[in-house]
Amino acid sequence: MAYYCCDCPRNCGAQRDGTNGKGFCGAGETIDVAKVMRHMWEEPCLGGSKGVENIFLYGCNLKCVYCQNYKINGTDNTFDKEKLRRLGTKEFGALLTEAAQTGASAVGIVTGDHCIRQISEAITDDVRHKIKVPVIFNCSGYAKPETLELLRGKIDIFMPDLKYVDGSLSLDLSRASDYPSVSIAAIKKCFEMTGPAVFGSDGLLKKGVLVRHLVLPGQIRNTLGVIDLLNSTFAPGDIVFSLMSQYLPVPGLCLPEKYKRLSGRLTKAEHKKAAEYFANAENLTLGFTQDLSSSDEAFVPDF
Ligand code: SF4
Repeated sequence: MAYYCCDCPRNCGAQRDGTNGKGFCGAGETIDVAKVMRHMWEEPCLGGSKGVENIFLYGCNLKCVYCQNYKINGTDNTFDKEKLRRLGTKEFGALLTEAAQTGASAVGIVTGDHCIRQISEAITDDVRHKIKVPVIFNCSGYAKPETLELLRGKIDIFMPDLKYVDGSLSLDLSRASDYPSVSIAAIKKCFEMTGPAVFGSDGLLKKGVLVRHLVLPGQIRNTLGVIDLLNSTFAPGDIVFSLMSQYLPVPGLCLPEKYKRLSGRLTKAEHKKAAEYFANAENLTLGFTQDLSSSDEAFVPDF
């Protein structure tokens, strides 16, 4: 059903009908699927040896200038939208059920912040009953708590990013000066809905919150601030933290001089500093530090 959308902190008030919305995210009424693929490079506690069957959605309510999935975030005019599967909620529920039956350790919905209302409607009691593996909701962290509430009881593992603690950085790179306060509130909401991390006898995460942070070249102070904030917010065993080092400069990135380092890769010194800081965060007892060697095109899905 068409509606005027204020579901996320952009508060566009844009009418969402048909397939092309006029809001920041560009989403209409449908859930637009760009790709479904088995992902073997998620954190080991998610995919194990079987991987995660990921459903990548098209569009985004953040559209960071360095987005690793820029081809499907709605900013790349060369992307052929004819390839999208534009699904209603019933069809998306069927796709999710099908994806959960492919033998993967879990099924993931990737970049779903702009479609939370639709995803909530898609995951009916019947759909949820048929899915026997954990359902992961992978998101940017730019979401309202009241909208996330729609996913209560439908998602097993929330996987929000915490990209920034610096509002000027989030304004410059993601056009969202309120990102720091919004995202920590969203993470707390996710934690309130799942409780502390629960692992199965197979060592895989079954329930909880896994927070991701991508270290940006030249922005190590922001990374240390992210670690400090999570360390002071949560207790040991509450959340899983994933320190990601797979930053790759996107083609044609044109930024002011102060961000010139985003045109290159993370240095060994930056990676070491971030990893050591995380290792010394006494309340972040669960987590992963990605190797610097993960910064490779081979790890980015081909859209
Ligand atoms: S979800 Fe999309 S249309 Fe709705 S408020 Fe956010 S950016 Fe605007």
